[in-house]
Amino acid sequence: MQSLFQLISPLAFLMFSGAFLGLHLAGRNRPAPLWFCASYGIGAAAFTIDIFRANLPPTLASLLVNALYMTMTVAFAAAIALRYRGRTPTGMLAAVGVGGFAAYLATYVSTGDVFLRTLAINLATVAVLCVGIAQMWGRAARPLDRIVFALLVALTAQGMVRPLAVGLVLDDPVTLANYTQSVLHLTLHLVVGALGIAMAMCLLVAHSLDIFEDLGRKSVTDPLTGILNRRGFEDEAALVLERSKASGEAVSVILADIDRFKAINDRLGHAFGDTVIAEMGALLRGHCNGGRIAGRLGGEEFALVLPARLEDARNLAEALRRKFAAAPFVVGGKEASFTASFGVASFGAEDALTDVLARADEALYLAKEGGRDRVACESDVQVARLEGALDKLERRQYRRRAQRSDAASPDEGRREGRRDLAYAARNSMARAMRGAE
Ligand code: GH3
Ligand code: MG
Ligand code: MG
Repeated sequence: MQSLFQLISPLAFLMFSGAFLGLHLAGRNRPAPLWFCASYGIGAAAFTIDIFRANLPPTLASLLVNALYMTMTVAFAAAIALRYRGRTPTGMLAAVGVGGFAAYLATYVSTGDVFLRTLAINLATVAVLCVGIAQMWGRAARPLDRIVFALLVALTAQGMVRPLAVGLVLDDPVTLANYTQSVLHLTLHLVVGALGIAMAMCLLVAHSLDIFEDLGRKSVTDPLTGILNRRGFEDEAALVLERSKASGEAVSVILADIDRFKAINDRLGHAFGDTVIAEMGALLRGHCNGGRIAGRLGGEEFALVLPARLEDARNLAEALRRKFAAAPFVVGGKEASFTASFGVASFGAEDALTDVLARADEALYLAKEGGRDRVACESDVQVARLEGALDKLERRQYRRRAQRSDAASPDEGRREGRRDLAYAARNSMARAMRGAE
């Protein structure tokens, strides 16, 4: 009857093994769940055989059960290492696992004392779990992961403390005959079972959260460049904007658009076009420090939000322009380079993200009109507008003057009008060239 109740732990382990297998099959390119699945599956087998060990020859039962406990622990430590470090210290785990089991075998051969044998296998699993603790050390960032870490430490500590404490307290020496009814056996199943179940629950929830986070990250990341896509960029930029409004810190936006990209695609193929886009993405990603946010808004258009005044943002845009133009690409065995144009604008107190993006877009358009491979700011757009309006005014004024002079003396009026118009044209050209510099 008692052994039936003891089956609760192995049944729970079996269910968790299935749940980890399900997570693994859900396929998120994470190997840890498969190792947890193996560990809990082997654990379920070890517990079950341990409960019914009286039905097996004693030596076979001891060796089989303890080999399974050891394998379960090694698989668990490997899974912990994979989850928290991304790789398994295979050599170290194999050495500690094989070494620990060899030490247990040596104890088994040299003494018939069941208590000493139990202590040996417990200490061997403790050594393996210590590798798991070392792998997880400093990597448990989330509260749930910290709970897993605390449970792992508790599991390791009980492996040393429990057999010693129970061994010292026990009146009757543990023998093969009374082992399955001993406190040593019962506490092993109770404590390891409870800790194992608690860890599995935390790990399953933590792993499910990872999957949700992954999905969330994917939905806001551009796969070609690895920077934010438009949706992610707009969300993040809106947050930066909100924070800057609260703190009064200046924030600017740089728009970048690769020049004559359609021609690059047409001439060198879409796949090559993608490498040019990826290069711009990498360049912006490399400048995403200090609260900057980069995103690919679509096609060959990018944006960078940065905590800076307009002039500093212009300087960064200029540096980016130079770097992109200097990036070497290989086309038909020869080096080639491409250029991009940049538009820069700053957030005003009343601006929404769309307002500042619209102004940066106007500046970008000015840079394109000015000949491409250049940076233009929203202030340049203002100057260009003023100059355009001034030119119109001047032309109208000179036309009127020319007409007046015409009435007084046709030849002289025409000459004066032509001179004024030539003067206005020269002025506006000079201004346009200044703006284009
Ligand atoms: P401009 O100098 O005025 O910016 O000219 P442009 O040719 O760069 O601009 P346009 O907007 O006419 O062309 C953008 C092209 O980008 C058109 C589209 O086929 C291409 N494109 C959009 N998305 C991608 C992509 O993901 N990969 C590649 N290779 N091409 C893309
Ligand atoms: Mg373009
Ligand atoms: Mg474009």
